[in-house]
Parts: sequence; C-alpha cells; structure tokens
Amino acid sequence: PLTPIGSTESILFEESQNNKLKNYVENSTVKNFLYNKLIQLNPEYDECSPFYICDIGEIKRQLKLWKSELNFIQPYYAVKCNPNPDFVKMLIQIGNIGFDCASQNEIKTVFKAHQDLGLNINTENLIYANPIKPIYQLKFANSLNVNLTTIDSIEEIEKIYKFTDGNMNVLIRITTDDSSATCPLSIKFGSDVKYSKKIVDKCIELGINIRGIAFHCGSGFKDSKTIIKAVKDSRDVWNYINKNQFNKCDILDVGGGFSKENFIYPAKILNNEIQKFYGNELLNNNIKIISELGRFLSASCFTLAVNVIGVRKEIDSNKTRVYLNDGLYGNLNCILFDHQEVEPKVLTSYGKYVYNDNINNSNSNNNNEMNQYSIWGPTCDGLDCIKAKTTLSHDVKTGDWIGFENAGAYTNAAATNFNGFTNEFECTFIDTDI
Ligand code: PLP
Repeated sequence: PLTPIGSTESILFEESQNNKLKNYVENSTVKNFLYNKLIQLNPEYDECSPFYICDIGEIKRQLKLWKSELNFIQPYYAVKCNPNPDFVKMLIQIGNIGFDCASQNEIKTVFKAHQDLGLNINTENLIYANPIKPIYQLKFANSLNVNLTTIDSIEEIEKIYKFTDGNMNVLIRITTDDSSATCPLSIKFGSDVKYSKKIVDKCIELGINIRGIAFHCGSGFKDSKTIIKAVKDSRDVWNYINKNQFNKCDILDVGGGFSKENFIYPAKILNNEIQKFYGNELLNNNIKIISELGRFLSASCFTLAVNVIGVRKEIDSNKTRVYLNDGLYGNLNCILFDHQEVEPKVLTSYGKYVYNDNINNSNSNNNNEMNQYSIWGPTCDGLDCIKAKTTLSHDVKTGDWIGFENAGAYTNAAATNFNGFTNEFECTFIDTDI
C-alpha cells in the first residue's frame, strides 16, 4: 500500500515491485538499436507491430535546456502528453519533476510509478490541473492528498466546497490570447480578469484557499506577446487575492506550450516578464513557479518505427501508395488532433538498412521528384492518410520499415484500436547520455 506523505489514506495498486524499466537497452543509440532490431524481424513470420524507442539522453538534454533558461521554474510533466508508465518512472528517477494530472487515471499512473520505484510520493509535487472535474474524481484526488487544483468558475468552487474535506487549494486559471497556438485552450478554459476577481470573492466567502494563478499560452503557441499579457493579467488577479485573502499567494503556474523548436525566445520573454512582475517574490523566496510541460519534455525523445504492409504502384504514372501498420487512428492521430506534420524516414529499403545513409547518396531517390508517394494507415477509412503527397529517400516494398522522429507528444496518448488494430505499443528505452 502506498501512503502519500501527510495523508492517512492509502491505496493499493495491483502488481508492482518492478523498479526497472520494462525494456532498457544499455550502450546503444537510436540508429544502432533500430539496426539490430530490424535485421532480426521477418514480416513473413513476425507481426512487425509498430514500436517506440525512447532516448533518455534526449530527456536529460531537454531538461538541461530548460534549466539553462528558466532554472527558477520547476517543470511539472503534463502526463496527458504521453502517459507511458515507464516514461513517467523515468522522469521520477531523473528527479526534481512534478506532475500535472488531468484525471483520476493520470493521478493513479503517477502514484503507481512511485510505488513501483519504491518511493514515497510528495503530493505537493502534483497538480490536478483540470478546471472542470467529475465529482468522484475530485473526491478521489482529495482522499489522496492531491490538494492543488485549477478552477475557472464559481460553480467549480461550490463543488470543491461541497465535496472535499476543506484542504483543497486552488489556482485560478485565467484566459490568455492563445490564437497563435496550434491547439488553443482558452476557447474552453480560463476566466478573464474581471470574472477571476468574482471567483476570488466566492473562494473567500466559502473559505477555499487560493494559492495563486495558472495560465496556459496554448499548446504550440508561436506569439510570445501572449506571455506578456498573461503574466501582467496574472499579477492583477494576484494582487486582488493578496489584498482580500488572509493567506498570500505563493504559486504561479505558467502552463505549457513550449516546444524544442520554439523555446529560447519565449523563455527569454517569460523570464523578463516574471522578473518584472514577480521580482520581489522571487527575491524573497516566497513564490513557487511551475510549468506544466508536455511536448517540450516528451516530443523529441521518442522515435516511432512502423512497418510497410502494402505498396501499390500506379501502372501509368510514377505514383506509389505506401500502406503502413500505423496511421491516423493509431499513433499518428497527432496529425488530426495535434495538427502535426510528420516526416516519414525510410529505415529499410528492400530489406537493406538505410537509416544511417547519407540521403544524397546515389542509391537514394531523394532528389528524384519524379517518384511521388502517398502514405496511408492500415484501416479501411479514406481519412487514414498520413501524407497525401511526399517524396521518400529510398523506394520501399512490403516488409520495409519507416520511422517517425519526434513522435512522443500526443501520439500514443490518443491512439485507438479502430478496425481492430492494436493501440498498445512496445517501447524500448536507451540512454545516449552515458
Ligand atoms: N497543461 C494543461 C492544462 C494542458 O491542457 C496542456 C495541454 O493540453 C498542457 C499543460 C501541456 O501543454 P504542452 O504539451 O503544449 O506543453
């Protein structure tokens, strides 16, 4: 049974004691691992299901990058982005990472990962960051001492007042102008400054403790001006709380939205604005600033390998349809839900491993714009199109392998088993940092 620190409740999760990652391969690189694995698989006898490789070294590099710019902001991994239990365990082992959970099951994932590692969980490092919570899940979180949540409505405070034991603390989630984001969130969540102050009044009336403010600039946001307004607005509501509530605010949650590709500039803006608006609190060490990082932590760590299950060449043109055993209803749902552009990389061509090849070599047809491919998933649905028109570095036939790099964010998290294809995928961990 696992008892969270400071809680009288305990919870028992089925089978555990496995403090090792299920598949961990020492002394390898992604390319070498793929080579060794793929040459052993034969599509005539093996299932050749899609699988992942997770590069632990890349996670460490991303965390280092984060610290280099925003050392004073503690990363809270947004489990929704990739709830792979071994990935969660890995993050716990790396240390100094909190968790943003959107639901009861995500809370369980984080608890179970601690239990499997034989570690106590400090629930101060968890946030139940969903402004609208089913009552039974709210009660569940409260019973486990997960007592920090976000809210954006008066109705939700009433729910908290009625169904929790009085220990639930809140962050008020304010809206942002996240129109530049690939996945805007403020369309659904957040309250403007004026309404937020009404929420503050209600919290005070009902004795719900407000610890601070949360915002999210939108997943994959591009316009850093969003940050400037969000930090300023947060301070406005923060001041109002501090003026009216006995306990002073001490947590600012700056959400997620960062990506490897779009980090340095927004990080500098965020740093600047926080120094401007929260400089005093930082100086006096009486503020905890957290960031709910999803894609920044998980996207670039994962590579997905999928198998070519069929090829159809047009007789009177140079167009070829390539069918894979993963697609829009599987891991590549990110094309639909997360608006991602994916880039198929040929791993094997006619059975020969070519991922290491220089793509400009003479065997490659990368420069041959004449060969056009369309890439499809395995289901019977015409929507299941991964790329309507693309070139490939090498020609492929049935049984070859295609890879997708940067495949760790919003991929397996929302995969379905539509048409009877699996949504469970093996993941092997390697560490390129040792
Ligand atoms: N926090 C909340 C409340 C979210 O809704 C999301 C994504 O939807 C995240 C964090 C993670 O965002 P990202 O993956 O863009 O960092």
